[in-house]
Amino acid sequence: MPIKKVMLLFLSLYLLLGTLTPAAGAAAGGVSPSLKLAVEDSVSEIRAVSIHNTYYVPLRSLSDALGWRITGQKNGIQVAGNSRSLLLLSNNGGALLKDGTTVPMNTVLDNGSLLIPLKLSIYLGYSVSYEPDKYLLRVWSGAAKLDNAAFAEKFKAELKPKPSPDAGTAASSGKPGQTVYLTFDDGPSATTTQLLDQLGKHGVRASFFMLGQHMRQYPAQVKRIAADGHGLGLHGMTHVKDKFYASPAAALQEMEDANAILTKLAGKGTTLIRPPYGSKPYFTRSFRDKVLVQGYHLWDWNVDSEDWKYKEDSATIYNSVMAQVHKLKSSKTDPVILMHDQKATLLVLPRILDELKKEGYSFGVITGSMTPVNFWKDKR
Ligand SMILES: [Zn+2]
Repeated sequence: MPIKKVMLLFLSLYLLLGTLTPAAGAAAGGVSPSLKLAVEDSVSEIRAVSIHNTYYVPLRSLSDALGWRITGQKNGIQVAGNSRSLLLLSNNGGALLKDGTTVPMNTVLDNGSLLIPLKLSIYLGYSVSYEPDKYLLRVWSGAAKLDNAAFAEKFKAELKPKPSPDAGTAASSGKPGQTVYLTFDDGPSATTTQLLDQLGKHGVRASFFMLGQHMRQYPAQVKRIAADGHGLGLHGMTHVKDKFYASPAAALQEMEDANAILTKLAGKGTTLIRPPYGSKPYFTRSFRDKVLVQGYHLWDWNVDSEDWKYKEDSATIYNSVMAQVHKLKSSKTDPVILMHDQKATLLVLPRILDELKKEGYSFGVITGSMTPVNFWKDKR
């Protein structure tokens, strides 16, 4: 996983692991480096990232480093190592231990890589140590020879995070205000293929915020969206206000379910989300806290095509979109245009693409390392 992405993905401070003591020092600029994970008596290339007070590592890499075996089961993933095993239940159902107890254990999907809390190793008989002042985060078993103090001293130089020169810069290409981010909601649909053809003909890439139900219905379209290099985003499962916004947990569950479907179809998940109807007014602080700490990034828009409302009235949509785009130009803001994956949009899209190109705009794909544009100005 690219370091820059990891750094921008996750929050600011050196946070604590489980019940261990919090760090005293925060990194300058509010962005914390990830830590190189120490495994037994050496420093590995595994990056541990801090999410909401817990260090996460990729399950695959950790298993390779410690010789664990991972097996897919009907209801989750079995992780076996060091003569113990546990079952990581699907849908963040926790870790089922051999004695029948279940301990809460959230996992995070990052671009197809499953991240697990490092403390999972404790349930497989390992010890985990965290000494923030020494940048030491270590997983070790009885086979380790060095104690933590000796380890930290020996690997002092290697453990210290190197400053990343490009941390904090946006991934956007071109000058500010010159890149358009086209976004399509509610797909995929029966017209996605034509939409992709139009985009392909113009050499333009966009981002799709898709509904789980529709991904199930149009799996080939999901695969092509991914294969064509468009941005992947989640729009939930039901698109029903009373269901999605019933509770923060319900909203998170819809996004997780949609992400699971996306991962299955596209071979990778995403961290980009757009709640149905946009994030204001319903996606309040408690919703954002619940969902965004899982590593998701909230994206709304700053240009509303209202294509769902004007349907075949292409002239109105075109004029409104261009007027909003021109207004943003004076403030050097990149337009994030909301459109919908629907038949009527096919009528107006080529004209909008032609004009934006004529005016010198380039087209970007939204990524997890960009600063999110949303109505709450929530930069997580
Ligand atoms: Zn929608």
